[in-house]
Amino acid sequence: MSLNETHDPALRSWVASANVAGTDFPLQNLPFAVFRRRGAGEAWRGGVAIGDQVLDLAAVVASGILDGEAATAAQAGAQEKLNALMAMGPAAWSALRLALSRALREGAAEQDALQACLVPQAEAEYDVPARIGDYTDFYTSVHHATNIGRLFRPDNPLLPNYKWVPIGYHGRASSIGISGQSFRRPLGQTLPPGATQPAFGPCKRLDIELELGIFVGPGNAQGEPVPIAEAEDHVFGICLFNDWSARDIQAWEYQPLGPFLSKSFASTISPWVVTLEALAPYRVPFERPEGDPQPLPYLDSEANRREGALDIQLQVDLLTPRLRESGAAAATICRTSYRHSYWTVAQMVAHHTVNGCNLQPGDLFGSGTLSGPTLDQAGALIELTAGGKQPLQLANGETRTFLEDGDSVVIRGWCEKPGAARIGFGECAGTVLPAVAAGA
Ligand code: CA
Repeated sequence: MSLNETHDPALRSWVASANVAGTDFPLQNLPFAVFRRRGAGEAWRGGVAIGDQVLDLAAVVASGILDGEAATAAQAGAQEKLNALMAMGPAAWSALRLALSRALREGAAEQDALQACLVPQAEAEYDVPARIGDYTDFYTSVHHATNIGRLFRPDNPLLPNYKWVPIGYHGRASSIGISGQSFRRPLGQTLPPGATQPAFGPCKRLDIELELGIFVGPGNAQGEPVPIAEAEDHVFGICLFNDWSARDIQAWEYQPLGPFLSKSFASTISPWVVTLEALAPYRVPFERPEGDPQPLPYLDSEANRREGALDIQLQVDLLTPRLRESGAAAATICRTSYRHSYWTVAQMVAHHTVNGCNLQPGDLFGSGTLSGPTLDQAGALIELTAGGKQPLQLANGETRTFLEDGDSVVIRGWCEKPGAARIGFGECAGTVLPAVAAGA
């Protein structure tokens, strides 16, 4: 994916808020979401972020300013889910991006027609952007795998397959919700320390998982693996993802088949999906530490080595009820980058399909918890608190090991570097509600 005129950092939009330093949504980003005006009883439809506005794709189609492949792509994107747009592939996405980039630039002849297609983000609500047929959760941070492994298996933290296989499992799509959601603390079985029989009740070790979500574009036929050289043609874009986890339920249930109810009660995604094309300036080499095995040939390509990784900055903020009530700022509990991932997006696609498994447009991959090399870059509370033994100290005097009822967690992501426009992902927020009464 090469740079083109849409990445020019000098571009400015006639939407003034898109030119403000620090905005997540300058003209160089143009991410997609599904939205409608809040409380207006409107149909859901696709939109594109520009500054503090949503460009309504259904209105853009009706305006008639687009033609050719861009118009066809906009029609697909104007539906209540983005699956049809996702299915079209990179040439269509790129044509729409270029047409919108030109039409939103300062001095564009389309300004008058498109002005009426803007909806303020402050008046919008969002839906999950695709019908997610299948959700696969990977485990691509070697730092997370090692930290977690040490807690669960102190003598054998990193299992021998990790450096060869992009580890994953099939997750639950039905409980994936959109940013802003609240969900109940899960009930389940746990084995209390020292006990010989399980207890039943609300999860006591409720955790976050800082992840990125990767939306699949065009699928592949069953039995036909996607070669790594073509893998990114099957990726529509990337969003923020919090894959909430019940660590005490997980510890009791996970052997031998892996996590089940400890993961399937809720996951939260951000509304905006940033395309791989928008992320092109932020590619970085995929590198293996000295002494680690190189990937098997089906997981290796020259392009993947040269620019397979992405430098996406990530931050997790925690807002407790006391912080919220006092009007204080949320506490930042983690900062890291996606560049530390052990496996790339292209490797995930190649591995997922190598056995003949068919992906479908709108399928979602979770990256797995994205912990960086040091513990303050850990993307889960179980790592940040050393398994609950070292509570986080918040500036207002509160402490946290795991999440308490009323806690909100906000994930943010952005890319910035000299010579490129800063682009952002918006936010992914969720709030923990009390469990239903056990046995009720
Ligand atoms: Ca996960």
